[in-house]
Amino acid sequence: MSKLSTLVQSARLIAKEFVAPHADAVDKEARFPHEAIQALKDHKLLSAYVPVSLGGAGATLTELVDICEILGRECAATAMIFAMHQIQVITIVRHAFDNPWFRDYLQRLVTHQYLIASVTSEVGVGGEMRRSRCAVELNDTKFRLIKDATTISYGAQADDLLVTARRTPDAAGSDQSLILVSKADYTLEQKGGWNTMGMRGTCSPPFLMTATGDAEQIMSTAFGDMSAQTVVPVSHLLWGGCWLGCATAATNKARAFVRGQARANPGTVPPTALRLAELVSMLQSLRSSVQACLTEYEMLSAADDAADGPLSSIAYSLKMNNLKIDATQALPQIVIKALSICGILGYKNDNKFSMDRHMRDALSAAIMVGNDRILATNANLLLVLKDD
Ligand SMILES: Cc1cc2nc3c(=O)[nH]c(=O)nc-3n(C[C@H](O)[C@H](O)[C@H](O)COP(=O)(O)OP(=O)(O)OC[C@H]3O[C@@H](n4cnc5c(N)ncnc54)[C@H](O)[C@@H]3O)c2cc1C
Repeated sequence: MSKLSTLVQSARLIAKEFVAPHADAVDKEARFPHEAIQALKDHKLLSAYVPVSLGGAGATLTELVDICEILGRECAATAMIFAMHQIQVITIVRHAFDNPWFRDYLQRLVTHQYLIASVTSEVGVGGEMRRSRCAVELNDTKFRLIKDATTISYGAQADDLLVTARRTPDAAGSDQSLILVSKADYTLEQKGGWNTMGMRGTCSPPFLMTATGDAEQIMSTAFGDMSAQTVVPVSHLLWGGCWLGCATAATNKARAFVRGQARANPGTVPPTALRLAELVSMLQSLRSSVQACLTEYEMLSAADDAADGPLSSIAYSLKMNNLKIDATQALPQIVIKALSICGILGYKNDNKFSMDRHMRDALSAAIMVGNDRILATNANLLLVLKDD
């Protein structure tokens, strides 16, 4: 059996046995999907992207996007937790692999299956990932960092955090570092709740984070470079996998509904079949956009000039931002179309055609970094982009 099918098969098993049975409770209670995350740890999937030389499975981004979709078909929140964790691992692997402290960290991650959360959003900055208010205070070999974070998904359950901050107290807001802080070295004071419409299992309230650590835990590459080459494209692709999972789940319910209508009246094509044809076309478009950008990213990031080449270009940033905008606009439309096919059964809760959770989860996509904020970034980029 190939490595690809091993990872994907593990994900399928976990989705069936540990994600699907608890998805409604996770949503209803807005609780962490601990059964699913424990199963992912047991199968060493949290270290899937760590290179084989450090004990990981050396997974590709394509495999991880597949896994996000598989998990997302059952529970979008579980898939999103997996995606957000993998973004952190991929950033470390791609930008700190030569740093002895981070290499050792990756090996420990393989052994202990640490879950890493992301702390970019901040009070006063909101979702503008490329600007921070907080700053690293370095004193010889030790640092101190305090961040008033608006949203930390699974903050209470994470083992470690990857945090953006200004490089020094004198640095400009956009002159940022990325710092890994370990559970033993930080405290989180929860400052609000997480009673949201959807993505309830991500457990993402605001926290005041206070951390200390060694200087070597500060990644040396400027966050701006990591953001363009890795964090933004990889986030939009892995999130794309989660959103595909949500869209596919809704579409599959609509297909089952139409098949049921067809079986009830043999020899006739139910009127809903026309809408289903439209729905499947919408899903196919979403899948094609994620797939095309994924194939291109795998190719560009494997090239020798990955760091200074096309990944850092304005045109590439625009393209990856557009993927996010388009996908997040398409997802709710897909779920609404599926809902209109299933009719009252889709609108009702507590039956197998219910679209309730998919609809609420889908609505998070456009605000998970606000689309208008991304469009504003694109508007600025377009002013300096030369014509094709
Ligand atoms: C499920 C979920 C999980 C999350 N997990 C995390 C996490 O783990 N870590 C983390 O750091 N963050 C996380 N976030 C936060 C997220 O990444 C964004 O930072 C957050 O949703 C933005 O908050 P906001 O809507 O107040 O947007 P803000 O960025 O504060 O913006 C407020 C509003 O103004 C608009 N706006 C802002 N700037 C402009 C502009 N220049 N032009 C036009 N309109 C503008 C925005 O589109 C938005 O509508 C999560 C969010 C969600 C939904």
